[in-house]
Amino acid sequence: MLIDFHTHIFPEKIAARSIEALVAGIKREQGEDYGGGQPLTFRPATLEGLLQSMPAAGVTRSICLPIATKPSQTESINRFAEGIRSEQALSFGTVHPADPNAEAVLEDLAARGFKGIKLHLQFQLYDIDSPEVIRILKCAEKLGLLVIFHAGADIGLPPPVYTSPEKISHVLSEVRGDHLIAAHLGGWAMWDDVERYLVGTPVSLDTAFIRQFISPEQCKRIIRTHGADKILFGSDSPWENPADTLDFLRSLDLTEDEMDLITHKNALRLLGESECTAN
Ligand SMILES: [Zn+2]
Repeated sequence: MLIDFHTHIFPEKIAARSIEALVAGIKREQGEDYGGGQPLTFRPATLEGLLQSMPAAGVTRSICLPIATKPSQTESINRFAEGIRSEQALSFGTVHPADPNAEAVLEDLAARGFKGIKLHLQFQLYDIDSPEVIRILKCAEKLGLLVIFHAGADIGLPPPVYTSPEKISHVLSEVRGDHLIAAHLGGWAMWDDVERYLVGTPVSLDTAFIRQFISPEQCKRIIRTHGADKILFGSDSPWENPADTLDFLRSLDLTEDEMDLITHKNALRLLGESECTAN
């Protein structure tokens, strides 16, 4: 079983346009030549594109992570997220820190069966240790909702970094942290700080979109010192093919037990499911 805990889809109508805008941001930050003229996504950024891509990579289930960049988008994004739920795909919900009704949004999501929410504070422009975000993290903890958030720098957005490993460590005096998942192994392109501030904490880390940017030695060291029971397989599909993420993890020569935890056991535990109920 392979659960991809970090994927993105958009409604059919806006998928191509959304990817275009994101690619423009990446080229603005990284230079026009980034990607050497190759497409930066490997599949259409739609539900259909996701479902069609999964068998080739051996992915049995994908978690989709939407982001509201303004509070007014929350309702329609969450309606879309709820509508795509199936055996193969499950979407988290979204909330915006500027929303004065953030707590009510979270209560509604929990009542509708959502397992968690995604925050991307590089788009939402709040520090993770700001009162507005801590309020969301506390409320999610109380409701039993997971919170996965972009962590570290973003390849397509300028500094400052709103969710650095150091800022993440600050929230751990406010919440337990075992419902938190820091994407990109705790801090994209800030992995020395991950080792300084996050390794050993209760926060889980995903493996999305890191393989071309981190040394295998440092990746393995972070997994081992943090604990494979707090690492989640994630690809960032459509930006990375999960088959490539899996190849990279296999190249690290982890034990079979560690790989089982990373590829599905930790995900099932966090989602509150047991192995036998989820094929
Ligand atoms: Zn992502």
